[in-house]
Amino acid sequence: MSAAPDWAALRARFPLLAREVHGKPLVYFDSANTAQKPDAVIAAVDDFYRHHNANVSRAVHQLGNEATEAYEGARAKLARFLGARGEEIVLTSGTTFALNLVAHSWALPRLKAGDAILVTRMEHHANIVPWQLVAQRTGARIEVVALAPDGSLDLEMLHGKLTGAVKLLALTHTSNVLGTVNPVREICREARRRGIVTVVDGSQAAPHRPVDVAAIGCDFYAFTGHKLCGPTGTGALWARREHLEAMPPFLGGGEMIKEVRFEGTVFNDPPHRFEAGTPNIAGFAGLGAAVDFLEGVGMEAIRAREAELLAHLTEELDRIEGLRIFGRAPDKAAVVSFAIDGTHSHDLATLLDLQGVAVRSGQHCAHPLLQWLGVGTTCRASLAFYNTHEEIEAFVAALRRVRALLG
Ligand code: PLP
Repeated sequence: MSAAPDWAALRARFPLLAREVHGKPLVYFDSANTAQKPDAVIAAVDDFYRHHNANVSRAVHQLGNEATEAYEGARAKLARFLGARGEEIVLTSGTTFALNLVAHSWALPRLKAGDAILVTRMEHHANIVPWQLVAQRTGARIEVVALAPDGSLDLEMLHGKLTGAVKLLALTHTSNVLGTVNPVREICREARRRGIVTVVDGSQAAPHRPVDVAAIGCDFYAFTGHKLCGPTGTGALWARREHLEAMPPFLGGGEMIKEVRFEGTVFNDPPHRFEAGTPNIAGFAGLGAAVDFLEGVGMEAIRAREAELLAHLTEELDRIEGLRIFGRAPDKAAVVSFAIDGTHSHDLATLLDLQGVAVRSGQHCAHPLLQWLGVGTTCRASLAFYNTHEEIEAFVAALRRVRALLG
């Protein structure tokens, strides 16, 4: 067995975590929103602009080759990270782009009136609105799987809804509000048996646990680079090769073609067919470094570390009178949404900020879920492996102070 990672040393690799906010040591509990970046990622972006900057796949000169290497290198690393092949990875600006690509290039040409798209009540808007746009244009309808009181999926209802009308099931791997980790492997297996195509939103899962798309058995898996300790404006869509082969392009332009004539254009092969225009090359150099960094730590070690932090945080919060936690699924990521009776979540978050604590408050881009919870807004503390038990103590102490202030 390999030795446990040195978490303090790993934390020290994140320069921003050493700063103060409002004169207090920063407690960054907003990693579900965006993760902080280790020195290796910052160095990779810096190195790209200092030493390798050029456009990809166009120039024959040395810099062009180096830029292409950095970009294609990121694709290869992401493929390894997901247990996939490089030609199945479309590099995108993030999950939102990836899901819109599936909606536009897979769903729009295929769906028709009478078909259904199945989503769950816990989806982020990025995994709802693209399907609504498809439904509006094709006449398909959206159906919704409800949640059990603990915030896990109602699996009985889900299975009951896997009818012949359903052509596509879009669900999140991990909820960004409840922390619920869905049994995507079992769900995708059931869907596949019925010929239903599955799209998994891995935004909140890929940074926190090992992901193997072949084992999950889905058709599409989307995630975003900035939650994976990488730069903003990066992300990827993994797709089965047969889908990518059969899908028309989403955006047209340079890079996605083999030959252009006014009479007609021959499109490039996938995945480049879906990567029109100049991408965020430096960002992907950084994302490649992020993947190396996370693999160096070990995704299983990260999962275990965050489970331990979640247990500590939950235990502390459960001691605070009048505090309600939303989401108690048995398999849960280190995301804790909560409300305190008689206080508004924005007031809580604002006062916590003055204590140096960064948490998110609001509806977390999940209006239908918040409607189901019956609360206007929640506060959300979301952790990563670089957080510490001391930070949890500091956060809870700050929360108690803030609560006393709010009466
Ligand atoms: N899906 C989930 C579950 C998310 O948490 C997020 C980001 O908050 C997204 C999708 C959208 O990701 P991006 O804005 O990076 O495209």
